[in-house]
Formats: sequence, C-alpha cells, structure tokens
Amino acid sequence: MRTILHSDCNSFFASVECLYNPEIRDKPVAVGGDAEKRHGIILTKNQHAKKFNIKTGEAIWQAKEKCPELIVVPPHYDRYLRFSKMCRRIYSDYTDKIEPFGLDECWLDVTGSMLHYKSGYDIAEEIRYRIKEELGITVSIGVSFNKIFAKLGSDYKKPDAVTVISRENFKDIAWKLPASDLLYVGPATNRKLKILGIKTIGDIANFPLELLERNFGKWGDMLYAFSNGYENSPVLKSDECRSVKSIGNSTTAVRDLENYEDAKIIFMILCDSVCRRMREQGFVAKEVGISIRDTDLFTITRQTKLLRHTDITKDIYNASLKLFYENCDFQKNVRSLGVVVTDFKSANEAQQISIFDNEENRMKLQSLDNTLDELKYRFGTFCVRPAKLMFDTSLSGFSPKEEHIAHPVGYF
Ligand SMILES: [Mg+2]
Repeated sequence: MRTILHSDCNSFFASVECLYNPEIRDKPVAVGGDAEKRHGIILTKNQHAKKFNIKTGEAIWQAKEKCPELIVVPPHYDRYLRFSKMCRRIYSDYTDKIEPFGLDECWLDVTGSMLHYKSGYDIAEEIRYRIKEELGITVSIGVSFNKIFAKLGSDYKKPDAVTVISRENFKDIAWKLPASDLLYVGPATNRKLKILGIKTIGDIANFPLELLERNFGKWGDMLYAFSNGYENSPVLKSDECRSVKSIGNSTTAVRDLENYEDAKIIFMILCDSVCRRMREQGFVAKEVGISIRDTDLFTITRQTKLLRHTDITKDIYNASLKLFYENCDFQKNVRSLGVVVTDFKSANEAQQISIFDNEENRMKLQSLDNTLDELKYRFGTFCVRPAKLMFDTSLSGFSPKEEHIAHPVGYF
C-alpha cells in the first residue's frame, strides 16, 4: 500500500525571518509586501500575530490597528529559497520521490522506506523532529494513502504536528471537513457546490456522480475521486516534473476583439494564468507562443525564443504582445487568443545572472509575482487585478486558471 506524506512549513516566511532576527522571535511578526510601504499588505504572520486576529491580505495599517506592537518585515525570497532547499535535503533522506508544491510544501512518496519503519507516522514524526532541530522551523505533516488526503492531513493540525488520514479513519476525519478544504476547491467551485447543497467533503463523496459531472464536467469526476479517496496520481520526482512539455491557456472572448486594447486585456489574463501555473510547478520557460483565431475561424500560431528563461508574468506578457503586434492588424476581428510557454528548466537551477538585464528590477518583479500568487491562492483570482482589467469587466471577467486547468497534469 502506498504511503504518501505532505509536509507544510508553518508560517514559512515569518518563521524564516524570525531565525534571521532572533530578537523578534517571541513578538508578533508579519511579513508584509514591500511594493509600496504605505499600502503594503500582510503576506504571512507568526503564531503570536495570529492571536491578534491579523489576517493575510489585510493592509499593514489595519493590522497595526489591531496590534500596535506588530513588527512588519519585508520579504526576502532568497532566504525562503535557501530554507526550502534545506527542507528538501532532509526529505531526500527518506525518498527520491519529492514533489514540491510552492516553496514551503512537498509531497513525499515514502512507500519504499516502509521496510525500515513501523509506519508512515513514524517517518513523519522523525522528519518533523529533524526539521525543528536542524533548521529551527516547524512543519505539519499529513500521512495518507494518496496525495489529496495527505495534503488535507497537513492542514488538519498545525503547527508542529502529524495527522494520519487512513483508509480506516478518512470518513471520520476528511468527510467532516468543509468542501473548500479540498485541494483546488477555490471560491468559484465552492460557490457552485453550495448552490447544490454541498457543504462538506463527505457531501461531495455521497453526491450522485452524474450530477457532479453535469455541473462540473471533468472536474466533477475529480471532485468525486478526491473526496472518496480514489485519487492515486504519482508523486513526481522534481526532475520528472520536467516531463511537462508546455503550459498554455486560450480563450474565446465574450465578444469579438476589435483593437489592441481589447487584446491586451485578454493577454494580461492568459499570461497571468499561464505564469502562475508555471511558478506553481517550479518551471521557467524560454519560448513563448501565441495563437490568434479570427472571426472566419482562421487560426495562426507564432512563437519566439526569449533571451533567457523566465517565469515573470511581465516578460511573458511583453513577448506575447510583441508577437501579436507583428502578426495581427485587425483586418478581421479576433475571436480567440491563446498563450503557451515551452522549453522549460527547473526554477531551482541557479539562474545565470545576465549582464544585459537589470537584476534588481527582475528581483522586484519576481517578488511582486510571488506576492500576487500568494494572495490569489488564498483569496481567488479576482482579489487583486491590474487597473486595466477594471475598465471592461465583461471582457476580463474570466479566470482560465480556475475555470479550465486548475489541476496539475498528473491528475489527468
Ligand atoms: Mg505553509
């Protein structure tokens, strides 16, 4: 039987910052977006700050009203990357099947180590203890027979805890949790589930499959499989993740696109979705392609090589737009657009610093992307949007990431 762990670093950014500044460790600490000091928002907070009901995503000034002594530090992504790698080094003592999910979470398939340990729980306890002793941060770990329940387990009890969700107890534990606790059930899906009267994961599991399919299509199948414990996708080794050859999104706009301003709106949304998916999977791409379909349903595709690998949304957006300018003159109106990125490399592989690029500016863009990813992950795609997208909300009111392909390729 498979034994899967999901390990999640608790209050990751805040915990790492406290290690670098031990004198703030026992005080309420938050990591805040530094895009613009006065309007910054809270990214994560430590346990002490949680007691003051500080919420991720709220404005720093609001948080300070609740807790005047709150210490807000700017994010340092190089530090988080370093700790992320050190965690993975510890995981690698137990398995080579380590699949990262963002910087602070990983799935581990430890089935092969079960000869040497009594149970998955014992392995999880040892990892929890080692990370605390060796790195000085805490993790919560879920142990289960598939990735979805392992992930649920790591959320179930934290910080510094291990939860086992087994074939014997999953109906008692997982089924009682709200449907929105299930991985990939974002605000949009949850709203639809509520309309169907579905509140808990158990409600999904016991809902007629054909009705889920009718309401959610293929995603309905997956919801059913996830909640019944049928999900069995493999934990991908980090280097296997590279077998993903491309990531793309396309859309048919609600109305025909008549000019470059219309097209910019669509490209902005498509690039945001594609780049978020790319960052989630830890890739950087060197090739960008676009597809343009006009009102006669005539389609062209064009691609371009970039100067360097990147996962920065602005880079992909600029390249897509340049291709579009070169290949579309609006002789015919445009019906659909698509963006695809290929030629991947792992983002963890040391990025060569190019002498042609303004490295500081790139770091700023990367940190902005990371901040926005974090927010959208927690509050949904529509929580922060570029001002441009507010002018025509009928055109911009779609989210390819949630609505079409919110799921890693492994699940299909
Ligand atoms: Mg975490």
